[in-house]
Amino acid sequence: MNSSEILNRLAVCLARLPGIGRRSAERMALKLARDTHGIVDELVAALRETREKICCCSRCGSVTANDENPCRLCTDITRDGRILCVVEDPSDIMAIDKSGSYHGRYHALMGKMAPARGDGPKQLRIDSLLSRIESEKIEEIILALSTDVEGDATASYIAELLKEKNVKVTRLASGLPAGSGIMYSDAITLAKAIKGRQGM
Ligand SMILES: [Zn+2]
Repeated sequence: MNSSEILNRLAVCLARLPGIGRRSAERMALKLARDTHGIVDELVAALRETREKICCCSRCGSVTANDENPCRLCTDITRDGRILCVVEDPSDIMAIDKSGSYHGRYHALMGKMAPARGDGPKQLRIDSLLSRIESEKIEEIILALSTDVEGDATASYIAELLKEKNVKVTRLASGLPAGSGIMYSDAITLAKAIKGRQGM
């Protein structure tokens, strides 16, 4: 592999991360290639540590340490175990929890239904959601999904599945920016949306 192929490989990897476009990835790759401040060594060590010590909680899907699984959110007995907030991504859990307006438990689907990309309900953590509703005797499900076509389709699909179950299904109130994800909403907007959640 010559130097431009090596840099290109690195840029392709970086561009797969959220929020990083192709051009930014190329600039990062060049910066790392010219590194004289130990950034590369630190990055390699941090990446290795992340891979070795961090995982997704086997119950809710949020990011946790390997030796703390189920995570603190799942084992904290001061949280209301009767309410489950369903989100797309672990980063949404962090955003909602930071808003301080919700004290129940969480469940990350790890995506949303997107038939164009081949992502159907089978790709999502819906089976584990259904079994949690039973085993944890959940009384309310809050669907905190993004306000776009795919988020709406996912919310309707889950609400339909839960129709026969003895569980209240609500969705975050409008007020969240149309077409945007939970993690991009500010704490005040999120708090209002949770407080004003509506039945489905
Ligand atoms: Zn958890």
